[in-house]
Amino acid sequence: MVELVDLVPAAAALKAAERIAMACHVGPDGDALGSMLALALAAQTEGKEVQPSYGPPFEPAPAYRFLPTELLVPPGAVDPEPDLMVTFDCGTPDRLGDLATNAKAAKRLIVVDHHVAGSEVFGDLNLIDAAASSTAELTFHLLRAAEWKIDQRVATCLLTGIVTDTGRFQYSNTSPETLRVAAQLVELGASPETIGQHVYEEEAFGFLGAAGAVMQRAVLVPDRNLVWSVLYQADLAANALTLTDTDSLIDLVRLPIEAGAALLLKEHGPGLFKGSLRSRGLIDVGSVAAALRGGGHHNAAGFTFNGTAEDAVAAVVDLLP
Ligand code: 5GP
Ligand code: MN
Repeated sequence: MVELVDLVPAAAALKAAERIAMACHVGPDGDALGSMLALALAAQTEGKEVQPSYGPPFEPAPAYRFLPTELLVPPGAVDPEPDLMVTFDCGTPDRLGDLATNAKAAKRLIVVDHHVAGSEVFGDLNLIDAAASSTAELTFHLLRAAEWKIDQRVATCLLTGIVTDTGRFQYSNTSPETLRVAAQLVELGASPETIGQHVYEEEAFGFLGAAGAVMQRAVLVPDRNLVWSVLYQADLAANALTLTDTDSLIDLVRLPIEAGAALLLKEHGPGLFKGSLRSRGLIDVGSVAAALRGGGHHNAAGFTFNGTAEDAVAAVVDLLP
């Protein structure tokens, strides 16, 4: 871990607070939700009032409903001018959606994050380490600095963040430190088996149909080292799925060895696509996403695109090396 100069002041600010507003990025993944709910649970145990939330659509993905999502409050219930607010897994304030306004108005803002591409430093206290596997790994250090109890439920939230952001300890962000933190979380009661089953092995039957459509539609662009595909709203309707059921589809699209980078476009609305980019390591997809006003990491990034899927592919192809 790099020296996080703001770690001790951030822990002190948390300990001094009576009420803590919290927000993670819109469309939260396991790391965003796991980190935020871990801090929320631990703070609650310390007698703090907590307001963990995220911007609309306010509906956690089914894969993460085993986390203590009952702690979440709707975005409208977060203090508009919180005394203390913490954001998780957001490289830029716009990733907070509607809650960016609360973060801006907060008297004190703690930012916990590990993004690189397209990121800015926007907190009063910033726990940002691009080398950390996950925001959850940083949240673990924050909880330790505050000397707050990491019980089995808190450990489960944190290990979920680490497992999902490291691709089950497979990606290049998996460091010896990541594994040491994970080992401690297992010692504290987190169960890798339970987390793995909930997150990776409980798809709705319709997932198979949507995955089939996406795989059938995949296109290889050999001279650009790219494989891409698209998921339309019609695929969701035909398979009784919602967008929150489709987080793992990109992991199928990125399989072909012929491509060093993968792109999955998901239709969020008419003329509105969300792009997920993945790299095998040579191509920096974070800078591709950042050039499209998105962001992320070297090997995993995303962006929003207004236009057709074909236009989005053309824009990405243009930016690839
Ligand atoms: P995913 O493809 O799983 O949605 O996202 C991959 C990574 O890129 C995550 O770290 C996520 O936070 C980041 N990311 C995805 N979409 C966006 C976006 O629209 N803007 C920014 N700044 N980052 C994004
Ligand atoms: Mn993350």
